[in-house]
Amino acid sequence: MLNYRLSREEMVLTQLERRGINDPRVLEAMREVKRHHFVEPAFRDRSYDDTPLPIDEGQTISQPYVVARMTSLLRLQPTDKVLEIGTGSGYQAAVLARLAHKVYSIERHFSLMQKARVVLEQEGCRNVILRSGDGTIGWADAAPFDKIIITAASPAFPKTLFGQLKDGGLMVFPMGEKRTQMLMLVERQGDEAVTTEAGGVSFVPLVGREGWSGSSYT
Ligand code: SAH
Repeated sequence: MLNYRLSREEMVLTQLERRGINDPRVLEAMREVKRHHFVEPAFRDRSYDDTPLPIDEGQTISQPYVVARMTSLLRLQPTDKVLEIGTGSGYQAAVLARLAHKVYSIERHFSLMQKARVVLEQEGCRNVILRSGDGTIGWADAAPFDKIIITAASPAFPKTLFGQLKDGGLMVFPMGEKRTQMLMLVERQGDEAVTTEAGGVSFVPLVGREGWSGSSYT
């Protein structure tokens, strides 16, 4: 039986702090959220490894470093209303939930959304609201958002989601082809998107109306 708390401490030190993640609130959230509760039982003893892991529907739970990095880039405030596209296991949503006021998260696969809902409830994340559907069209009823995070690879600039971002808000997303993408950080300044590149990443594709077409990935 692994000591998960110890593994988590070690993960934070070696994978995050040593690689330049230095926001104390993000480090604290990464120390507290039990990734092993979001990982499939077959992979549980690898929960704090430096890698993404498979979940149902051919999807993945992101690598801890990537979760911490994207979370840091959002510079979350306790008052923030956040939109996440690609709930997956719910792990990233649980990290966001500790740092923001409210998290709205959309997952394309109904079965993943259901599973994530159960785990998030068990973990006591009461400020996360889940919905199943195509996240590329956003969540108009709850818009505008202070921050938006897309945890799947977008083929292009996500216009509709940008439209649901508050003026002064931040959006982070991977953009590019199937295997490797560039992490993009966008700040909304009026109607303008001020964009910075934030390093290479590898995500599963964003599939939807403003994403990749599903057939090209089956
Ligand atoms: N944030 C997740 C990572 C999930 S992987 C975690 O912490 O575990 C990306 C997820 O995005 C997959 O579950 C995939 O089904 C979902 N996805 C892909 N395209 C989507 C879309 N258009 N709308 C909502 N979810 C989408």
